[in-house]
Amino acid sequence: MSSSPASLDAIFRPRSVAVVGASRQPDSLGRVVLHNLLAGDFSGIIFPVNPHASSIHGLKCYPSVVDIPDAVDLAILVVPAAQVLDVARDCAEKSVGGLVVITAGFAEIGGDGRERERVLVELVRERGMRLVGPNCMGVLNTDPSFQLNGTFAPVAPGRGPIALISQSGAMGVAILNQAESLQVGLSKFISIGNKPDVNANDVLEYLRDDPLTRVILLYLESFGDPRAFVRIAREITPHKPIVIVKAGRTHAGAAAASSHTGALVGSDLAVDALLSQCGVLRVDSVEALFDVGSSLASQPLPRGRRVVVVTNAGGPAILATDALAGSGLEVPTLTEEVRELLRPDAPPEASLKNPVDLTGSATPDHFRRTLRTLLARDDIDAALTIFVEPVIREPQAVAEAIAEVAVEFDKPLLACFVAREVVLEALRDREDALRPVFLFPESAVRGLVALTRYREIREAPQGTVRQFDVDRPRAAAVLERAMAAGYPYLSEPEGYEVLQAYGIGTASYRLVRSADEAVEFASQIEGAVVMKLIARAVAHKSDIGGVMVDVQGEDAIRDGFHILVRNAKTHGGPDLELGGILVQEMVRGGRELILGMKQDPVFGPILAFGLGGIYVEVLQDVALRLSPVTDVEASEMVRSIRAYPLLEGFRGEAPASIEAIVEALMRISQLVQDFECIREIDINPFLAVEQAKSCVAVDARIVLE
Ligand code: ADP
Ligand code: MG
Repeated sequence: MSSSPASLDAIFRPRSVAVVGASRQPDSLGRVVLHNLLAGDFSGIIFPVNPHASSIHGLKCYPSVVDIPDAVDLAILVVPAAQVLDVARDCAEKSVGGLVVITAGFAEIGGDGRERERVLVELVRERGMRLVGPNCMGVLNTDPSFQLNGTFAPVAPGRGPIALISQSGAMGVAILNQAESLQVGLSKFISIGNKPDVNANDVLEYLRDDPLTRVILLYLESFGDPRAFVRIAREITPHKPIVIVKAGRTHAGAAAASSHTGALVGSDLAVDALLSQCGVLRVDSVEALFDVGSSLASQPLPRGRRVVVVTNAGGPAILATDALAGSGLEVPTLTEEVRELLRPDAPPEASLKNPVDLTGSATPDHFRRTLRTLLARDDIDAALTIFVEPVIREPQAVAEAIAEVAVEFDKPLLACFVAREVVLEALRDREDALRPVFLFPESAVRGLVALTRYREIREAPQGTVRQFDVDRPRAAAVLERAMAAGYPYLSEPEGYEVLQAYGIGTASYRLVRSADEAVEFASQIEGAVVMKLIARAVAHKSDIGGVMVDVQGEDAIRDGFHILVRNAKTHGGPDLELGGILVQEMVRGGRELILGMKQDPVFGPILAFGLGGIYVEVLQDVALRLSPVTDVEASEMVRSIRAYPLLEGFRGEAPASIEAIVEALMRISQLVQDFECIREIDINPFLAVEQAKSCVAVDARIVLE
C-alpha cells in the first residue's frame, strides 16, 4: 500500500490539474470548481475535461483525460457517480498521481455505492494513485508556489498558518465560511469525505512536516484507526498543536455494560482519554475550534496561569473572570502597590483590583498604559481585554492601542470587542493587527485556556512504560484453567491470584467450607473479618446479601457463615468447587477506589480509575487512559479526578498512598498487555491507605473472552 506522506504531494502540490466534468452550467459543481481554480490563481496548468465542450472559461477543453497532451498530476472528478470508475481508469492510464472525487453516491448510500467505492479503491491501490473522497468538497493549498483551490466552496479563506481537515463536506463549507469571516488564514484545507484511501491520519502525517502549517484543526466524525492516530498525534503535538472537534458526544450504550468499569468506558470519555493522552486539544463546536485555533496560531504561550482582565464594563468582565477561574486559570487580586502604579493612567472612577475596570470613559491611552504596566510584571502571565462600545469611543483606536502593546510583550493578550466586525474591517489589511478578535469573553477564555493547556502539553515529560517483575506463568495458569473449564469469569479468589501474580496487593483471605474453618482463620488475623459468598455467577455479591462486613467474635462468625449459606441457597447454592465462603481481613480507614480495565473493540484496553462505590458512575468523575500507560500518564490519571483532594488527605484525614495507586494502575496495564483474553477487570474497591504496602484489592472481578 502506498501511504508514505510524500505521496500526498500529488494532491496538495500538483503542477497540473484536470477538472473532469468541468462545465459552464451556472449552478453546477463542475463550474464552481473550475472557477475556484482560476479565481484562486492556480500557479500550474488547468485542463478542463468535458466531451461536450471545446473550451470553457477560455481554456481548451478535452474530451477525456487520456486526450490531454501533457502530464496530469491531479484530477478532480465532478462527474456523475456512474462515470467515476471509467474516469478513474482513464486517469490510471494517463499516470495521474492523485484523484479528488467530489462526486457523492458511494459507500455513504450503501448497496451499489459501496460496491462502486470498493472497486474504485482497488483500482487506485493497484495503480499507485492516491484518492481523496469520494463524497468530499475538495482540497486547498494556499502555498504561494501552488495556490490551489480545488474545492467548490463559495468563499476562499486567506493565507495563514492553520491547516484544516474536515471529514464532512457540509461542515467543511461552514468551517471555511467561518474562517473567512474571522479573517483566519489557512495553509491547507482538505475534506476527506468517505476516506477509503486518504484518511485523517495520512493527512496529519503529511502536515507534520509542512513548514507552512503551525496549527492543525480537525473536524472528525469517526476514528478509522485510533492506534495510528495516537502514534502520529504524539509525534506532532510537541511541535504543532492539534485541535479537534469530534462529533458525537453521547453516553448512549453505557447503561448496558456489565460492570462499573464497562459502564464508564462505554462512554465518550474514552475518546477524551485517547485525545488527552496524545496531547490533542478537544473542543465542542466549530466556533470553539476557531477560538482555540486562531489563538494558537497568533498568540505566544503563557508561562503561567495568572491572568489580568482589563475592561471598560463591569458585567462582561465578571463573566470572563468566572469562566477563567472555572477553567483553572487564576485572576489574582492586584496588590495595593500595583494599584498605585495603575492609578495615574486610569480614569478617576476606575476600579483597579482585577478585573481592572477602566469604566465607560476609558480612552485608547488608558488601555495602552494600563496593559503596558501590567504585562511588564513578572506576576502576570496573560491579559484579556474587553471593550464594550460606549457611545463616543472609537473601537478601532482602542484596538490599535491594544495591538501596540501586544507586540511589545511575549505574553498572550486576547481581546474582545462587542463591535468585532468594525474592528476586523478597519484592521483587515494590517499585518501587525490584533489577532484574533473575539466577540464574547467566553471565546477569549477558551483561547487562553487552550494556550495554557498547550504549553503544559509541550512541557509534559514523556514518561516511560514500566515493566515490573511479575509471575506471568502463575497468572497464565489461572486464566488457562478457567478458560478450559469454559467459564467467562474468574471467581473472586482466582481474581486475587492473578492480581497477586502481578504484584497488586490483596487483603488476606481464606476460602472455607465450614463455620469451624471460618473461626479458625479469623483467629489467625487480628480484629474483625469480612465474610463473602463466592459464586461465579454472582457479579454483585451485596445485591443478594452475600457480604457481611466487620464481623467480630466466634458466635458472629458462625452465624455469619450460616446466614451466607442460607442466602446462597436461594441463588443455586454456594459454589463449593470454588470454596463457598470467603473470610477476609477487614481493612479499616482505606479510601475506596475503583481500578478497572475494559477492552474496547476500537481502542483496545482502556484503564479506568475513580472513587469506588456508586458515586463514580453518577458523577462521571473518572480518569481513563489507553493501555499501555506510562508512569507520567498513570500519575496524571490519579491526579486528574475531581475528587483527588480527598486522596491527599482532607480535613485531617490521613492521605492515601498515591504512589501505590499509580503503581497498581501500571501493573494492571502490564497484565492486560500480557493477556489479551482478559476483557474486563473491575477492582472495586481497591482500598488505599497511607502505607503503600497496605493498599489492597478487596474485590476483584475479571471477565474473560
Ligand atoms: P460486591 O460484590 O457487592 O461489590 P464487595 O466485595 O466489593 O462486594 O464488598 C462490598 C463492600 O464491602 C465493599 O465495597 C467495601 O465497602 C466493603 N468491603 C468488602 N470487603 C472489605 C474488606 N476486606 N475490608 C473492608 N471493607 C470491605
Ligand atoms: Mg465490589
